[in-house]
Amino acid sequence: MLAERMNRLSGSQTSGMRNKAKQLRERGIDVVNFAAGELDLPTSPAIKQAAREAIDADRTQYTDTMGIRPLREKLAERVSRSTGVAYSAEEVGVTAGAKQALYNAAMVLFDPGCEVIIPAPYWVTFPAQVILAGATPVFLPTEHHHFQIDLAELAGRITSRTRGLILNTPHNPTGVVSDRPTIEGIAALALKHDLTVIFDECYEQLVYPPHTHQNIVKLVPEMKGRTVLVNSFSKTYCMTGWRVGFLSAPKEVMKAVANLQGHVTSNPSNLAQYGALAALDAINDPFVDNVREVLRTRRECALQLVQQIPHVQCTIPQGAFYLFPDVSQILGRSHKGRPIANVDTLAELLLEEAHVAVVAGSAFGSDRHIRISYAVATKDVEQGLIRIRQFVEGLE
Ligand code: PMP
Repeated sequence: MLAERMNRLSGSQTSGMRNKAKQLRERGIDVVNFAAGELDLPTSPAIKQAAREAIDADRTQYTDTMGIRPLREKLAERVSRSTGVAYSAEEVGVTAGAKQALYNAAMVLFDPGCEVIIPAPYWVTFPAQVILAGATPVFLPTEHHHFQIDLAELAGRITSRTRGLILNTPHNPTGVVSDRPTIEGIAALALKHDLTVIFDECYEQLVYPPHTHQNIVKLVPEMKGRTVLVNSFSKTYCMTGWRVGFLSAPKEVMKAVANLQGHVTSNPSNLAQYGALAALDAINDPFVDNVREVLRTRRECALQLVQQIPHVQCTIPQGAFYLFPDVSQILGRSHKGRPIANVDTLAELLLEEAHVAVVAGSAFGSDRHIRISYAVATKDVEQGLIRIRQFVEGLE
């Protein structure tokens, strides 16, 4: 019954784990949920108020496919400011989350038979979307290089079939922020080999000093013509469920995206767009500062506790809100007679036995790590990591 393409696609493991944790909670089990890629804080009052007003003003019809004009204009201003390069409202489009922006980009840019380089570990959806476009993901391992992209190795992956690459900084799941020489080097390779870059900067505003976000167009303005910048309201403004993201791209790419989106979903929710418009108002700056401060505290707490877990090593995250500890030394040991053969079994046992939901690294292309989201209440960060430590200490 099913189309052949579905044989090449499996469900999102991150959504799967989030749902399992929810189900256990509904059964009354006290589960610490480290699996969700979202903050536990509510959306700011100013954004909620704007959406209420949009309802009262009957903003209930279709909008332009790529979003309402005032939002596109505000976003163009913001992207122009952050890149130092002028973007017009026609070069910015609003989508149902960054996920749709990424999907749009993959579908309009990649043909069957072409190759797209994706640094690994990767956010689970990148390869899935490349596959949906009929193209082939080519992975570039980064673990041996502190999860930074090695430029010589990247150059070695480029073939005559390479069409583009998908970058993500700050990075999900490792928390690594790409440094300036790396981004500049990638830009030089993209220009030399005529590659398009999809640049996912959804966690752009969630970076821990002294690290700073590096935007590829800002560093190398010639990249504007071959870059699709992807961004989201989900993380910074605690708006995951509103489903608003955006992309900035050259006009011809944006025209193709509008064609595609016009046949897939049309505009993102009219009401949510008014919420997003309010999010960009300076009145929300203190809200975002608070998000950063909350995450900074949770990160410190998480780092301190993860370091107390025996046999586990963790790279210090520089942005976003994930820990990606290496648990390979635990693999092969047993819990109450049940061998932990791989990271999937480890994640299952942590949920069933320690009541902590994490995502197995296999979802991100790693068989040595698990992902822990510390965007949950500090007491849960503490409780969950203590449970993991006790679980590990009890292994045979
Ligand atoms: N890109 C990355 C790197 C992400 O981590 C996520 C969310 N987990 C997204 C895109 C999608 O975000 P949105 O909610 O805007 O679709």
